[in-house]
Amino acid sequence: MARVYNFAAGPATLPEEVLQEAADEMLDFNGSGLGVMEMSHRSKAFEKIIGEAKQDLIDLMGIPEDYEVLFVQGGASQQFAAVPMNLMKNRVADYIVTGQWAKKAFTEGKIFGQANKIASSEDKTFSYIPDCSDLPISDNADYVYICENNTIYGTKFPQLPNTKGKILVADQSSMFLSEPVDVSKYGLIFAGAQKNIGPAGVVVVIVRKDLITDDVLPGTPTMLKYKTQADNDSLYNTPPAYGIYICGKVFKWLKKMGGLEVMKERNVKKAQVLYDYLDQSQMFHGTVEKGSRSIMNVPFITGNDELNAKFIAEATANGFVELKGHRTVGGMRASIYNAMPYEGVVKLVKFMEEFEAANK
Ligand SMILES: *Cc1c(COP(=O)(O)O)cnc(C)c1O
Repeated sequence: MARVYNFAAGPATLPEEVLQEAADEMLDFNGSGLGVMEMSHRSKAFEKIIGEAKQDLIDLMGIPEDYEVLFVQGGASQQFAAVPMNLMKNRVADYIVTGQWAKKAFTEGKIFGQANKIASSEDKTFSYIPDCSDLPISDNADYVYICENNTIYGTKFPQLPNTKGKILVADQSSMFLSEPVDVSKYGLIFAGAQKNIGPAGVVVVIVRKDLITDDVLPGTPTMLKYKTQADNDSLYNTPPAYGIYICGKVFKWLKKMGGLEVMKERNVKKAQVLYDYLDQSQMFHGTVEKGSRSIMNVPFITGNDELNAKFIAEATANGFVELKGHRTVGGMRASIYNAMPYEGVVKLVKFMEEFEAANK
């Protein structure tokens, strides 16, 4: 079996150990004679799977008791609507627009009320995070919204914005569980699974309990009310059961690895190898301002479309796949999530050095 180094932004690489375990259990989970995909979501066995996944996530992130953890469907994109439907009581919200995903959330927010763009980095193709220490936060804003790690542009908030007491909502899809976060600083965190924790089809929502109410915007579908999901332990209807099972295995893997402090150390070390090379290369250049760099998504360019294409083709042939940048940006992007081993990045850099030498 020849596994490649998969640098895709999402769906993305998963820990090999987790995939192997899932493969071993595919036909017969724990001696039950059936696989998790075939199992009732109301069965004792599945209740245990989802219960452990939730508890392991609480342990990993140190989620305080006054927060609820929900496993929902619809992708991270559905949260762009669910967030305003549940939280926009005054019909006012402030958005910091630092990339395509934040922009989409902002555009969706406008469907439900007055969404204000209070800061943006679009003037420099989203290559930095704006200063968020003293923004014009609206007096009656129901929340301030950020996309904390911008998957496409490779930026990450170096510190959280000063929301002047307003609730902070963060899309953490592409940085989820890559490092410790202080959950108590947020009103709501959501993350689509397929970047860093599992297969597409699961979204984790971590929301402060006092924000889970029946006081939602008129017309909010039952399924999109956080209260529906919270009251039913994420089992109001059939959940994305197999996806939750895989996420649960990834959470256990992360615990075994030593938790989020250790993951952060590993991720910083991995990203450093790539950034150090980019900073001295004559051919490849990072596109993000140094203070705003993501440790999960690293975009880079050569400044020459033909050379980019040649690099991507040769990298692919050598087992470094999915390095093409997002279609709106071009160039290259290496997504180096939790499951990308250090040696994968070291080997990629070695390959880049060789390519640079051969194409001077
Ligand atoms: C991928 C991504 C999304 C969209 O996720 P879907 O599950 O496809 O809806 C939203 N936000 C961020 C930061 C992402 O990386």
